[in-house]
Amino acid sequence: MSRYRGSVCRLCRRENMKLFLKGDRCYSDKCAFDRRSYAPGQHGQRRGKYSDYGIQLREKQKVKRMYCLSEKQFRLIFSVADRQKGMTGTNLLVLLERRLDNIVYRLGFVNSRTQGRHFVRHNHFLVNGKKVNIPSYAVKVGDTVEVREKSKKIQILDESLEAVAGRGVPLWLEMEKENKKGTIKNFPVREDITVPIQEQLIVELYSK
Ligand code: SF4
Repeated sequence: MSRYRGSVCRLCRRENMKLFLKGDRCYSDKCAFDRRSYAPGQHGQRRGKYSDYGIQLREKQKVKRMYCLSEKQFRLIFSVADRQKGMTGTNLLVLLERRLDNIVYRLGFVNSRTQGRHFVRHNHFLVNGKKVNIPSYAVKVGDTVEVREKSKKIQILDESLEAVAGRGVPLWLEMEKENKKGTIKNFPVREDITVPIQEQLIVELYSK
C-alpha cells in the first residue's frame, strides 16, 4: 500500500494546523509549523481562497493525515461509518479513535500515531492479554491494552508516559501508569474529540 514518505511537517503546513505527527518535536520550539505557518512550496505564502469543493477536500485530507491513513484506508472506514446507525460524521470519528494505533497514542505509550503503528506492528502490545499486531484493530468497550512484559523496559515507552502528563489521557480511557495498562471505559462521544474537525464537510465530499 502506498504511503507518504516525504516530510510530515509539510503536511501540517499544507493543512494550516498542527497535526502532531512527530512526537516530542511537535511540542518544542523546533516545530516547523510554529516557525513557518504558511503552505510549503514556492507560492506557499500566497494561500488563496478555496472553493466549496476545496474546503471539503482539505478537511478530508487533514483528518486522513492526522490519523496517518492512506486514501483507500480512509475511504473504507468512511464506508463502514456510513452503513452504521446515527450520524455518519460522528461514526467516522469514533471508528478512527477506536484504532489500536490511536489508542496506544491516546494512552500515552507512544508520542505519535505513526510511532503507535510502528510499535503495534512490532508486537509490543497485548489486547485483553493477547498479542495484537494490527494497527487498524478496532478496540471494544472493556478491552484492556497493555505493554508486553518483554517490552516494558523500552526507554521510549517510559519517556512517552512522562510526556503524556502534559497532554492528558481522554476521559473515555483509563490508564494504570504503574502497570502500563489502559482500559477502554466507553467509546468517545463527539464532545470528547476536541481537535477542530468539521466532519460534515467530509460527509458532503464523499456524498457527491
Ligand atoms: Fe507538525 Fe509536529 Fe512537524 Fe510541528 S513538528 S509541523 S506539529 S509534525
